[in-house]
Amino acid sequence: MNKPASVSDQFDAVVVGAGFSGLYMLYRLRQLGLSVKGFDSAGDVGGTWYWNRYPGARCDIATPDYTFSFDPELENEWTWSEKYATQPEILDYLRFVADRYGLRSDIQFSTTVTSARWDEQEKRWTITTGHGQEIRCRYYIMATGCLSMPKSPDIEGAGRFAGQVYFTSRWPHEGVDFTGQRVAVIGTGSSGIQVIPLIARQASQLTVFQRTPNFSIPAHNGPAPADRLRQLDEDRDGYRHDARWSRIGVPNEPTDVLGVTASEAVRRERFEAAWEQGELAGIVNVFADQLFNPASNDILAEMIREKIRSIVTDPETAETLCPKDHYFGTKRPCLDTGYFDTYNLPHVRLVDLRKQPIVSITEDGIETADESFGFDAIVYATGFDAMTGALVAADVTGRDGLSLKEKWAAGPSTYLGLMTAGFPNFFMLTGPGSPSVLSNMAVSIEQHVDWVAGCLKDMREEGLDTIEPTELAESGWNQHVQDCGAITLMPTANSWYMGANVPGKPRVFLPYIGGVDAYRQACDDVVGQGYLGFRMTGPGADRCRDGVIRSMQPDVAMVLEFLAAMGLPPMDTLPADDARALMAATAAARPPGPEVGEVTDGVIPGPAGDLPYRLYRPAGPPEGPRPLVVYFHGGGWVLGNLDSDDPLCRDLCERSGAVVVSVNYRHAPEARFPAAALDAFAAVQWAAANALELGGIPGQLAVAGWSAGANIATVACQLARDAEGPHISGQVLICPVVDSDMTRPSYQENGDGYILTTALMRWFWDHYTDPADRGEPRAAPLRGDLHGLPSTCIVAADFDPLRDEGVAYAHALEAAGVPVRLARARGHTHTSVTMVGTVISGAPVRAEIAEALRNFFPSAEPLEHALQRS
Ligand SMILES: Cc1cc2nc3c(=O)[nH]c(=O)nc-3n(C[C@H](O)[C@H](O)[C@H](O)COP(=O)(O)OP(=O)(O)OC[C@H]3O[C@@H](n4cnc5c(N)ncnc54)[C@H](O)[C@@H]3O)c2cc1C
Repeated sequence: MNKPASVSDQFDAVVVGAGFSGLYMLYRLRQLGLSVKGFDSAGDVGGTWYWNRYPGARCDIATPDYTFSFDPELENEWTWSEKYATQPEILDYLRFVADRYGLRSDIQFSTTVTSARWDEQEKRWTITTGHGQEIRCRYYIMATGCLSMPKSPDIEGAGRFAGQVYFTSRWPHEGVDFTGQRVAVIGTGSSGIQVIPLIARQASQLTVFQRTPNFSIPAHNGPAPADRLRQLDEDRDGYRHDARWSRIGVPNEPTDVLGVTASEAVRRERFEAAWEQGELAGIVNVFADQLFNPASNDILAEMIREKIRSIVTDPETAETLCPKDHYFGTKRPCLDTGYFDTYNLPHVRLVDLRKQPIVSITEDGIETADESFGFDAIVYATGFDAMTGALVAADVTGRDGLSLKEKWAAGPSTYLGLMTAGFPNFFMLTGPGSPSVLSNMAVSIEQHVDWVAGCLKDMREEGLDTIEPTELAESGWNQHVQDCGAITLMPTANSWYMGANVPGKPRVFLPYIGGVDAYRQACDDVVGQGYLGFRMTGPGADRCRDGVIRSMQPDVAMVLEFLAAMGLPPMDTLPADDARALMAATAAARPPGPEVGEVTDGVIPGPAGDLPYRLYRPAGPPEGPRPLVVYFHGGGWVLGNLDSDDPLCRDLCERSGAVVVSVNYRHAPEARFPAAALDAFAAVQWAAANALELGGIPGQLAVAGWSAGANIATVACQLARDAEGPHISGQVLICPVVDSDMTRPSYQENGDGYILTTALMRWFWDHYTDPADRGEPRAAPLRGDLHGLPSTCIVAADFDPLRDEGVAYAHALEAAGVPVRLARARGHTHTSVTMVGTVISGAPVRAEIAEALRNFFPSAEPLEHALQRS
């Protein structure tokens, strides 16, 4: 029997929860020599595996991976009997761990922590339990689990049923015998899919009520995978290292096969292999783009649906079981043993709640819109208030009386998923904003616990006793978590990852999807940078290195990594022709950009010969003329052509609804300054004069350009103003070159490592202009007269050396009375916004550009008026 703690009890740390997280946390804190008290509402250790005792409950990460790895001796002493162990075996394992390290003596079971309050004076937490105990501690650690707070059934009349009611997440310890019973199961998520085949073996009638069909693949359970065991035998450390630095905490080589471009044979082969393997790590890695590209996801989803149709004999039931309302992987994919086959049994029936919603639970059973069902037992497999439920329920109050519930009313906010501002010395294990439920949690938990233990050790060594994240660091991390989610299909689903299963819960993407490896690196970097983003205090000490650990868009970071791995020579070390060839080669390998209605090539008479142009007309109505945008490609006046910016032009055309005329111009060094600028002006004059022939509305003409193309676009605007024509309605300048001064801070911050480097910019300038010309407004338009220029949209990217000159241009234009919209490309480089189809996070910026373009033009102006006006 555990002795209850007395009122005066004081500990260095309190740990709530005695599952995987709590047990390992206790072990590490003890190693540090701290006094620790553990609590759990459960009667014993185990957490998830203590509560979820329903028949069929198993892990869905293979046991060689779903296991502690912190102690090789522990690994040697335990052998799993199956690939996917059952709940009793996992519970035995956790009991074994608790016994082996004598952890139980520090844990008080059957005790719920009901509140925790921070005392700013004492710098301590006061913890209160359901038994009325009060415990004081310096560090409060919630190891309360992501999937530990069952969701109460939100069904009318749920309390009325007179028969037996069971919850998969609170299953009776003595087990349940359903022999001869009429049983209802409500819910077809992971637990439902595991329990249904086993209940079907006993029940005389089983009716499954399904709201959302789920993707599931066969687990193919059996002995632990031999290849995995062999790898562990040969090199356990290497294997564990690979798991820790993998995407989901299981060693697995990420594929580079794209679903959209792979041949049918390759697609089929990869899918069948994953189906046969029966592992989440395999099925989430069939195509590299399956979680990003809807078309790729559809290919995979359809192959799974085909399997379902091939297993379930009744076509209508099969169709009802086929998930069609969410992309594969946006809800937790399931592993099953005979789940779909179960519906071929004569006594099993599926009720589609989408067609036949439950009206009420009655005394005898369930009433749907069409039928009354009588049951002896109802089993709820209705899931959890995931990730935040247990944390918020435990009534945590931080500094100034602010509760976690209040702070998180609009969604959780954490730094690294580990801490939250305003709650000093309060740690969460696998909190929202950590990889947690998107990973092999054994690996994630060990990493979290090690990080917290390391942090407490470092603090002790430096004489510090409180730690808390800053608001800046926390909001930066939250943004990063959302950015990582936003480039995937995850936010499209009504999943518990989004909080969508709990009525009233804010819709926020809860876990971190950047990967176990990326997350570990971020945590390590925080420590490596002197606990960046944390304020730490101690007697006579107060230190804080504030900052944001990840501010680059995740897909931009991926592109940079990919390019770095290719080891291409720096452009500025090449002759111009070689640099052009390199640019053309990389352009040929990228996605083509969206379809547009029509693409035609032509030539414009330029001041020194013909200039090629390519015209993009949007698809669909209206048939008649549209606003016209004359676009100039980027490439430092040296590189680029009509092909280089083709995907971007297509994208701008489709999004803005304008006719886009992309014009090639003379390049340096063959034609140096001011050739490109003069060509640009000539092109604008010609387009204005020939608007109708181009399908444009006369008088509704804007210019746009990227980088050096934006330079000549805005120079053309200055020249048009000076020449009193043609009329230009607006200019869009994407990461423009507007000055030759290379001393601005953005050159210092971003001058190396982000594709456009200081060295490359210098190379461009040297090819284009003589130093004496670089102050000329036709080269450095920021230095010109800016009065009377058209409305302007400037895109400035965070990681662009040109960022500050773009911002300076915006301010200077504004000061000159020009309406300006400054669009910040948050987390982007000079090039990434233009990477259509590759950098998904650039899409909102391009949408903003398109909106700016549309706003340049008087909407729905009849053609006759436009003609009169021009
Ligand atoms: C059916 C099921 C299958 C799963 N399979 C896998 C799998 O195969 N692979 C995988 O990686 N993950 C799986 N998970 C996720 C699983 O939750 C984690 O792997 C892991 O067990 C979590 O451990 P934990 O210690 O963090 O939390 P838990 O195991 O959830 O333990 C938390 C404990 O905290 C206690 N607690 C909470 N609040 C309080 C309070 N206020 N006072 C006192 N005690 C409190 C709870 O009683 C609970 O015992 C599964 C989850 C479920 C439900």
